[in-house]
Amino acid sequence: MAVDLHLHSVFSDGSETPSVIVDMAARVGLTGIALTDHDNLDGVPEAAAAAAAAGIAFVPGTEISVNWASGPMHLLVYFLEPGEGPLQDRLEEIRAGRANRNTQIVDRLRSLGIEIDFDEVLAEAGGTGVGRPHFAAVLVRMGCVADVRDAFDRYLAKGRPGFVDQKHLDAEEAIALARASGAVPVIAHPHTLGLVAADYAAAFEYLAAVGLGGIEAYYAAYPLEMRRHLAGLCENLALVATGGSDFHGSYKPGLAVGRGYGDLVVPDMALEELRSARGGGSQGAEGPAR
Ligand code: AMP
Ligand code: ZN
Ligand code: FE
Ligand code: FE
Repeated sequence: MAVDLHLHSVFSDGSETPSVIVDMAARVGLTGIALTDHDNLDGVPEAAAAAAAAGIAFVPGTEISVNWASGPMHLLVYFLEPGEGPLQDRLEEIRAGRANRNTQIVDRLRSLGIEIDFDEVLAEAGGTGVGRPHFAAVLVRMGCVADVRDAFDRYLAKGRPGFVDQKHLDAEEAIALARASGAVPVIAHPHTLGLVAADYAAAFEYLAAVGLGGIEAYYAAYPLEMRRHLAGLCENLALVATGGSDFHGSYKPGLAVGRGYGDLVVPDMALEELRSARGGGSQGAEGPAR
C-alpha cells in the first residue's frame, strides 16, 4: 500500500496531464496521490475528478520556494484547497512575480545574443506555469545547448548569466500562511537546505515549533539509508514522514510515478498522518481527502 505525494503536471513543469498521472498511479497500484505543481492549484480539479473515478485518495497541494538561511528550501503544502485563503491569495502574487521573472529571463538571454521567442516558451509550457525547464527545452531546440542539464549549467542555474532570482516568502511566514489556510506545510527534499547531517535535527525542531507538519523523508533520489534516517528524525519530532517521486514526466527522465527510480515505496500511512496533521487550525474543509 503505497502513495506518491510529490507530482508535477502540465500545470507547472511536468509533461503529463493530471489525468494521465492518475492513470500512471492506478497502474502501479497506488492508494493515494498528491498533486504538487509549483505555485498553483490549477490542476487540482482535474486530478481530483480522475482520482475519484480511479478510487485513489487525492490530496490537493502545491510546492513553493521559500527563503532559508543556508540554502534553497522548497515547501510542499498539502490540503490547500483552490479558492481564496491566506496562502492562496499570496500565491497569486508569487505567480505575478514569476511572470515578471520570465520576462527578465528573456531579456537576459537576448542580451547574451540568444534570440529566444517567449511565445515558444509559453507554448512549451502549454500556455501556463512557465518555469526554467521550459526555457531549457526551447534552448535545446534552438541548438544553443546540448540538453536540459547543459541549459541549466550554462545559463539558467543560480549564478549563471541567464538566472533571475525571485522574491520568496520567508520559511516561517510561508509555514504560518499554510497553517492559517488549513493546510499542512512539509519540507521537500531536505538536502537542498544546505545543512550537514548533524544540523538537521535542530533545524527541523525549530521549524516544527513554528508549525511545520512534516519532512519529505521518502524522496526518490535518496538512498534507502537516508530515507530511513530522515523518517527516524520525523518520529522523534512528531513530524509526518512524507515522500514522493518528484515526477516531472519528460522534464526529469527516469522517474516513475509511485516508483521513483525503481526502489521508492512511500507508506500509505504518510497520507493518513498528513490528514491528522491538519489539526484544529483548519478553516472548514474537514472530511476525508477527495
Ligand atoms: P523554476 O521554478 O522556474 O525556478 O524552475 C525550477 C525547476 O527547475 C525545478 O523543477 C527543477 O527540477 C528544475 N531545475 C532547477 N535547477 C536545475 C538544474 N541545475 N538542472 C536541471 N533542472 C533544474
Ligand atoms: Zn518542478
Ligand atoms: Fe522542489
Ligand atoms: Fe518538485
